[in-house]
Amino acid sequence: MARSTTVPVLALTAAQLLFVGLAETLWALTGPPVPASTGITLLIVVAVLFALAEKFTVVFPVRRGAHVISLSDIPLVLGLLMIHPLLLVPVRLAGALTGLLLLRRQRGSKLAFNTALYLTQTTVACTVFHLLGGASDPYGPRGWLAVFAATFAADLVSIVLISAVIAVHDDSQEWHRLLTADVKQLFQAPLVALTTTLALVTALLVREQILAALLLGVLAYAAHLVFAGYAQQARTHQQVEDIYRFTRSLEGLTGADEVARTVLGQVRDLVRAEYAELVLTDPPVRMRLYGREQFDIVAADTGEPASGQHISVPVRIGDSTGVLLAAECMPDTPAFTDDHVRLLQAMSSHAGVALSEVRLLERLRHSAAHDPLTGLPNRVTFLADVQRVVDSGGSAGVLLLDLDRFKDVNDALGHDIGDVLLREIAGRLRERYAGQGTVARLGGDEFALLAGDPAAAVTLAEDVRRTVERPVPVGDLTLTVQASIGVCLAPEHGSDANRLLSRADLAMYAAKESRAGVRVYRPEDEGSTARRLTLMNGLRAALDHGELTVVYQPKVDPATGRVLGAEALSRWRHHGEPVPPDEFISLAERGGLIRPLTRHVLATALSDCAAWRQAGHDVTVAVNLSPHITADPGLAAQVQEHLHRYGVPAAALTLEITENGIMTDPTNCRLTLDALHELGVKLSIDDFGTGHSSLGRLAHLPIHEVKIDKSFVRHLVTDRKRRAVTDAALQLGRALDLTIVAEGVEEEDEFDYLRRHDCDAVQGYYIAKPMPHGAFLDWLASRHVPARVA
Ligand code: C2E
Ligand code: CA
Ligand code: CA
Repeated sequence: MARSTTVPVLALTAAQLLFVGLAETLWALTGPPVPASTGITLLIVVAVLFALAEKFTVVFPVRRGAHVISLSDIPLVLGLLMIHPLLLVPVRLAGALTGLLLLRRQRGSKLAFNTALYLTQTTVACTVFHLLGGASDPYGPRGWLAVFAATFAADLVSIVLISAVIAVHDDSQEWHRLLTADVKQLFQAPLVALTTTLALVTALLVREQILAALLLGVLAYAAHLVFAGYAQQARTHQQVEDIYRFTRSLEGLTGADEVARTVLGQVRDLVRAEYAELVLTDPPVRMRLYGREQFDIVAADTGEPASGQHISVPVRIGDSTGVLLAAECMPDTPAFTDDHVRLLQAMSSHAGVALSEVRLLERLRHSAAHDPLTGLPNRVTFLADVQRVVDSGGSAGVLLLDLDRFKDVNDALGHDIGDVLLREIAGRLRERYAGQGTVARLGGDEFALLAGDPAAAVTLAEDVRRTVERPVPVGDLTLTVQASIGVCLAPEHGSDANRLLSRADLAMYAAKESRAGVRVYRPEDEGSTARRLTLMNGLRAALDHGELTVVYQPKVDPATGRVLGAEALSRWRHHGEPVPPDEFISLAERGGLIRPLTRHVLATALSDCAAWRQAGHDVTVAVNLSPHITADPGLAAQVQEHLHRYGVPAAALTLEITENGIMTDPTNCRLTLDALHELGVKLSIDDFGTGHSSLGRLAHLPIHEVKIDKSFVRHLVTDRKRRAVTDAALQLGRALDLTIVAEGVEEEDEFDYLRRHDCDAVQGYYIAKPMPHGAFLDWLASRHVPARVA
């Protein structure tokens, strides 16, 4: 019995015992004295009959429950006619205890309640019998009438008290059902009449001829069999109806929990159990329904397994199995029988089908709402969640995260590695932030977060960035990806989920462009998308039509003034307007145009360089490699092919790469760099000082040159910190035997400083601005530097 309901049951038991005690006292004080003639044998026989009655019970289906007919009416009638009430109650007590304890193995509050119920019935029956004057003419018609009234009253008492105990116990609806039940169904009047008549005839006969009791024993047993058969039929009929109602109750349920709860509720009702349990293996959970309200779901290996009286059957749910269990019969059911097991089996097979259906449905629904690769909610779910918050008048922060240059990881390392990376990032995001709001994968390398507190959205975004940018070990590689995050606030930036997301997207692009990492949406971001789209299309067309031009900025040796070579820098005019290289290069990187762009610049630069060399100038040319293609395995072959086509020696080509380009994918980068080095191409680390790599790492790479970033060169004479970086780079260069180039030299004092400190090459407006091929050739000629043809 569930703990919480024990108290009201015990209270009901105590009330009954109080009633019996009071009635007995009243009898003792005001009733007729106990006749001295009552034989002890009679008392024992009646007590034994009461006990045996517990064995011969017949259960009839009544309403949703059952009505127990026991042959206890026979000893009751004998007792009413032959035994003084003050003695009958103890006899009943002895019979009840023996029968319930030994034959029905009841214990605890259930035993107490049933014993009290029997005593109450006996007391009520005695009272009715005596009030109607049955005692004055026990074997005459008046006595018969009083006996009938007494047994009917006892039956009524039992119905009311059992309904009461079920009501306090687990189902307050029981009263309602009792009151609305069909009276004919409720009262098994013919059966009560039959047992009562049988008992009366027995008493009459026994009075005449004691041996006749044996005959009546046969009759009683036969009657029991007839009842049992009849009851069996009624129950079978009832079960068909129950199963039908059960399957109907499962129709239209859509959640597994909902189905489990309904199944367990029905099991409790139909099998007449105090609690019902469904234990599943996949997932391993134990669902238990106590009473009407208490529904627990716990891990399968926790929670005590059913002890005491119970029946269980296996359940098949698709490929997995489980167990359906009903434990402790309700007060109106003597014990679980084979009928109950069969009923449970039928219910289990229907429950299994229903559960596997909803699971399938749930799986479908899950996949409709989730991203298959990472298991995170998808765009549809995310938008719905955002809309729900906005509609409810709440505020929120929408974070849109996009990995920087994820496409390169995919291109260079393959989609499998890309997938591993995405799953790792998804896992980190889920683990750290799913508790705070929806974490979704919108597709590709885009993730989104819904933050409850808009004020904390930027702090959250910074944290997300750090989480994502932690190195990801993949096999023996370690990848680091960077992320840009756009933040948009609701309701400030919109009240429509789609609009909010697209604004977060704009902010994300702006963050990416400005390399800010995190950016909150601003209205001016709107224009930039339109511009980006036009530019992207324009750039694609420009590349198709070879409209990109290349300009050259010289590098000179500050000690001698000799021109060493030139850096090739792309230029693009869109509708006559120059587009800053930083802008269109990053566009090309994101739009998958960086490969054709690089190929174009490389071809142009080599072709132009060949022309300078033919004109007698022993100069080199440097081409910038975007980090995106530094790891490209086909790069070396392509470079070799171009060198060959334009007849430029490999040593005359320098490829400028950035530290970040190497760090994105060190292993593949290393392979490409080694292959280029094999060719004899010179490699240069561009923008030195702005990345995060340690100087020590560079020593292991096959590089020839380091270019100190212009941010350290500008004003190096007056700024001690900048000078420190430049000095360190110069020392490093000497130690590692690298060529050190200073770029962005604009002033004479900068130039002088670098010359005095043995910088190998300088580049900058102080020498010359980038210029077209023809102008550069003229400039070379005007330098009057003695040329030496290789
Ligand atoms: P970068 O490789 O660092 O190129 C040097 C940049 O510094 C060039 O900017 C150049 O015009 C500028 N510069 C040169 N001297 C001075 C100076 O004295 N003062 C100042 N303030 N700046 C100077 P640009 O041409 O605007 O190019 C910007 C960036 O775009 C380049 O930086 C490079 O990263 C990228 N880029 C340009 N062309 C290409 C290309 O063909 N391929 C790739 N992948 N990137 C390119
Ligand atoms: Ca460069
Ligand atoms: Ca640079």
